[in-house]
Amino acid sequence: MSDKSKSTSPSVERIVCKVCGKTLTRDQSIKAVIGHRCDSLLAAGFDAVKLAAHYAQVTGAIPEGYVKLSDLDKKVKREKGHVPGLTISKMVKAIGRDRALESALHPIARPVYDVRRHRWVNGWLMTKAGLVAIATGDFSKAPKA
Ligand SMILES: [Zn+2]
Repeated sequence: MSDKSKSTSPSVERIVCKVCGKTLTRDQSIKAVIGHRCDSLLAAGFDAVKLAAHYAQVTGAIPEGYVKLSDLDKKVKREKGHVPGLTISKMVKAIGRDRALESALHPIARPVYDVRRHRWVNGWLMTKAGLVAIATGDFSKAPKA
């Protein structure tokens, strides 16, 4: 092995939650090898195997036309003065809250996770009709997801 290869920075070991695979950052979570959210869910009676299966089910390849949730978040913040009733909390409610354990209001609002566990949502939600649906909770005009 050459000196050059020895000098490359060592890869930082990522400690991930044993249930959902999310990278852990808190010391307490790293010690327990489980994230706070998953720990709480297990304490609330969720079964670890079922929880893992649930995460696997909502984690998939990102479909065409999907946008990062962070982009929708920015859009909602920009448009909330123009669309009556539009708020971030309504957006969160529409997509089904944290990790979609509570179901989305409509299939089109259901987020998809990429391998880095970032959430993506259907680009239709960024349209005027989508924002109105988020604001009103009425997704009857949504295209088939
Ligand atoms: Zn977890």
